Amino acid sequence: MTRLGDRVAVLHRRLLFAEEPDPVMVQTVFGALFLTDLLLRAAGGSPLALGSWPVAGLGLVIAVSAAAALVPWRAAAPWVVGALPVADIVALGCSRMDAGGGATGTLAVVPALWLGRQFGRRGALVVFLATTFLLAVPGLLYLGVTGANLTRTVLIPLVATWAALAISYAVDRVRAGIEVIEHQRRVSQAIFDTVDVGLLLLDRDGTYQGMNRRHAEFMRLAFPDGHQGRSGQLGAVYDATGTRELDTEEMPTHRASRGEEFEDVRIWVGRDPLTRRALSVSARRFEDDAGARAGASLAYKDVTDYMRALRVKDEFVASVSHELRTPLTSIVGYVQILLERDDLPADVVAQLEVVARNSGRLHRLVADLLETARTDHGSLPVVRQPTDLAAIVRECVEAAEPAAQRRGIELAHEAPRTLVLLADAERLRQVVDNLVSNGVKYTQAGGRVQVTLGIDANRAELCVADTGLGIAAADRERLFTRFFRSRHAEEHSIQGVGLGLSIAKSIVDSHGGRIEVESELGTGSVFRVRLPLGG
Ligand code: ADP
Repeated sequence: MTRLGDRVAVLHRRLLFAEEPDPVMVQTVFGALFLTDLLLRAAGGSPLALGSWPVAGLGLVIAVSAAAALVPWRAAAPWVVGALPVADIVALGCSRMDAGGGATGTLAVVPALWLGRQFGRRGALVVFLATTFLLAVPGLLYLGVTGANLTRTVLIPLVATWAALAISYAVDRVRAGIEVIEHQRRVSQAIFDTVDVGLLLLDRDGTYQGMNRRHAEFMRLAFPDGHQGRSGQLGAVYDATGTRELDTEEMPTHRASRGEEFEDVRIWVGRDPLTRRALSVSARRFEDDAGARAGASLAYKDVTDYMRALRVKDEFVASVSHELRTPLTSIVGYVQILLERDDLPADVVAQLEVVARNSGRLHRLVADLLETARTDHGSLPVVRQPTDLAAIVRECVEAAEPAAQRRGIELAHEAPRTLVLLADAERLRQVVDNLVSNGVKYTQAGGRVQVTLGIDANRAELCVADTGLGIAAADRERLFTRFFRSRHAEEHSIQGVGLGLSIAKSIVDSHGGRIEVESELGTGSVFRVRLPLGG
């Protein structure tokens, strides 16, 4: 049914509602109707002699149809095309010069619609004149004034002109509507092209539906050999480090075409180091009226300068911290040696302890910075060997005990005698140290920090729970990003730079583990680390 409906619509459009009416189509329809009229007349008992006017009219229709088919109308001036319907009206005039009369009045509507469609109100005027003087009046003169004949003579031009005017008004209105739509389309396209973000639209199957100019530039970098217009095509598209080519599953367009939504996925496009760009990609899917997935839109933001600045900063931080570490190590070492002497006056010892505490802090900070720069370049060295995590937990709790006591916090732990896993002992110590010292640091006097180690489904599970400040939901998402400090930590003037947890996460990740946090502001936090025993 819909198919049939579609076909009729297409036919209709080609007949009269295309940009230009198709002369061959309209003329063929008119010719067929004309012939039908003559045949029905003959069948109804009005034999038509070969030399009669109606048959002459048929000859004219055949000649006009042949002209419509053979003359290259598109190249001709528009008024030349207008000669065809006028000739059809003349043929109807001939057809009318017969006592039977036939359906000439009804058929006059076809050339009238044609002229009205093609030439608007001027066409309607031509219809009026042609139907009056070439069709109606000759018939009146030929057949004489009878009631029926007079009615036809008056009504045929009026109805035909009305049909021509109606279609010309309808076409004007449609044209005005199309102009508005076209104007809006141009405005939207201008906005689309002006924004400095690459925009791409995919349909449900991942076929490209449209993109703006900015995105076309990115496409030229990513697919110098051309693009097929379907999501997931591989090209010069690299991961966030700019070194590894993405596979199909990782391509943002492929992910978006499967209905995935994401934010700030970093990629590099282009092979040439001088012209390649770093992009931050976000995707959103959209639905149709019935709520089914209809496609996805992707935004590509150029973050090249930001990424390059980050790299320069990281390299700077790495080299500065590296330069600072050597002299600091010797300061820390020599202060320790001095403190081991027992011939120093008490006030000197007190001052040296201040130096030791602060140089120790500085040393840790520099080590953290160096570590962060290293993890950024994806080169966190991990040396796996059988490691007793239970022993590490005990040592870390012991090391944090003095601070906990000073602050009036109860620090308890529960761990099996040994828990051996294949891991980097030094790195795991860093993780446990950070979680335990954070627990103590972010808990007020009178609070409690509980460290628990156990095995759960072939994985070691370390849990550090405190009854401290807690972390707001909004902060929890950013907790493991570098240099992040919660507003509460800042408000309580608790010292720190926000690197410990990001380093802990890189270490846990590089061991194939997971780190999670549950927390409620004002109640406390639980940090949970799960590590595979096999490393
Ligand atoms: P630092 O402690 O040096 O600031 P971290 O990376 O270890 O850096 O921690 C990042 C932030 O996470 C802290 O600034 C603090 O806001 C929050 N945080 C970490 N651990 C806890 C905790 N146990 N309780 C409350 N907030 C915490």
